Amino acid sequence: MKKQAKRRVGILGATGTVGQRLIHMMRNHPYFEVTALAASGRSEGKAFIDVCNWKLPFEIPDAAKAIKVYGCKPPLDCDLVFASLPSDIASSAEAAFAAAGYPVISNSSAFRMAEDVPLIIPEINPDHLDLIPAQKKNRGYSSGFMITNPNCTTIGLAMALAPLQRRFGLEAVMMTSMQAISGAGYPGVASMDIIDNVMPFIGGEEEKVEVEPQKILGILSGAKIEAAPFKVSAQCNRVPVQDGHLESVRVKLSSKATVDDVADALATFTGLPQELELPTAPSRPVIVRAEKDRPQPRLDRDAENGMATVVGRISKDTIFDFKFTLISHNTIRGAAGAALLNAELLVAREVI
Ligand code: NAP
Repeated sequence: MKKQAKRRVGILGATGTVGQRLIHMMRNHPYFEVTALAASGRSEGKAFIDVCNWKLPFEIPDAAKAIKVYGCKPPLDCDLVFASLPSDIASSAEAAFAAAGYPVISNSSAFRMAEDVPLIIPEINPDHLDLIPAQKKNRGYSSGFMITNPNCTTIGLAMALAPLQRRFGLEAVMMTSMQAISGAGYPGVASMDIIDNVMPFIGGEEEKVEVEPQKILGILSGAKIEAAPFKVSAQCNRVPVQDGHLESVRVKLSSKATVDDVADALATFTGLPQELELPTAPSRPVIVRAEKDRPQPRLDRDAENGMATVVGRISKDTIFDFKFTLISHNTIRGAAGAALLNAELLVAREVI
């Protein structure tokens, strides 16, 4: 791809868990430079370093420290915005930026299931970006538009389902998650609720995971996505792990396969980000481990800089066809890295 000037990026929700990851991941990025930061009234008008409760084990990039934080309304001094806001605020803020002419790359659930908004995992459904013209027309946007990435639990699941759907067809999926506390943002779950405990409820999570994979694995037909027809049943739990969502998955396939066939479909899965060598793309989007006690959060969440889904324990199931365990880093592949890879795809496809 020919070298171009860096696009100037604004981050809505810059002081939060996902916003901090975005700032870290965009230091020295070849396509993007962070020029604008925005958050709540609590932070507005102050320098980023003075209001951000920085929680990553890396220094705040020097370029971000002195940036003045604005409120989450246009205009901002940038060419596009990444949005990582609580979803009740996201719906009005994201729509306002799109209407004001900014491409919006969102992490929140506010518009994920809207018919005219692409819900993208670049390895799986980059063609769904072709919904953008219809969205602009429907909503009367000029240069602005919105694209979204999936829920942090959906992403790891969809990365494992896509190769199976392509090679064997998918009939049904059952998934039980053990989700990290960073998935709840900061300060998130009270320590009194999560230390020495498991919370068997995450508000709205199961509902999202039961519908998002079918949109992602659906077929673009004209200006609509025809959702894939398989069913998903999800049970989501919060566990005392810092980062990384572990998922126990059972699948029923449409055609016969062996354990080796399933492992091969997963391990050889690859997509457009790998072909285009996008800067944040993992070289292996799905890694299959043969050890009987992997994947584990501490050992596997950082594979490929947190961008790979690690799958293990693939075996025959007595009720469904196969079962396996996967892990995906929730704030990297499940949020900031997902949004960044989506934005890199927009650049590669010359949408921005
Ligand atoms: P977080 O740590 O709670 O951060 C929230 C951010 O939103 C902060 O920057 C906060 O600014 C800002 N904010 C809060 N209320 C606001 C308001 N009224 N107006 C403007 N800004 C406001 O949350 P997070 O974990 O980063 O999550 C952000 C979004 O990403 C959510 O939609 C979440 O569902 C989604 N997501 C999160 C994860 C994850 O693993 N954490 C994964 C995938 C998707 P102040 O600091 O000024 O309060």
